[in-house]
Amino acid sequence: MPLSVHLSPSSSPMFSAPPLWEFIKATGRLSVSICRWLNVSVEVHRWHYWILMLIVVGVGFYVLMVIWETMRRSPAITFRDYVEDDFYGIHWGWQWDYDGTLIRRSLRPYCPACKRDLSFTIFIDGSSIDMPCICGKVFSLPAVSLDRLNDWLTREIDVNIRTRKFVSIVEKQRAQISPPTGDKRASDMSM
Ligand SMILES: [Zn+2]
Repeated sequence: MPLSVHLSPSSSPMFSAPPLWEFIKATGRLSVSICRWLNVSVEVHRWHYWILMLIVVGVGFYVLMVIWETMRRSPAITFRDYVEDDFYGIHWGWQWDYDGTLIRRSLRPYCPACKRDLSFTIFIDGSSIDMPCICGKVFSLPAVSLDRLNDWLTREIDVNIRTRKFVSIVEKQRAQISPPTGDKRASDMSM
């Protein structure tokens, strides 16, 4: 059915309708014409219909897959997700302040083998810092002040952030389903 939009102005030359009202009326008439045109049945061949159906199903399936993939993907990893790592043969955990600075006093050593907190058994003597764990392993670091040790750890964390290495570290940590109980790194602890 051909589209026919009747846009003739009011018949009376004395009356001039405001342009906006004319525009609204014309839009209404056009909408009615479009609806009539859309409402007319069409006849297509079966192969034509089935090809269209296959395309619709294919596109729909693809869109669903894209939505599913987007929902499944974990949100982007930021430095705030980087809260643990292994340094000097010991597993360390820490927290970030609200302004993005590392809270130094939150740095805590953990046994890489059994994940127990080692901060209660830190022994500093003239030659080394020893951290024995209940599981039997003993971790040793060169004798420095705890403040200096925190400096070293902060520097290592900082370099992993600036080189973006932390992203792969966090991804690896997230991929681990269970904590590594027989971690090999635990055996070559002594420094
Ligand atoms: Zn342990």
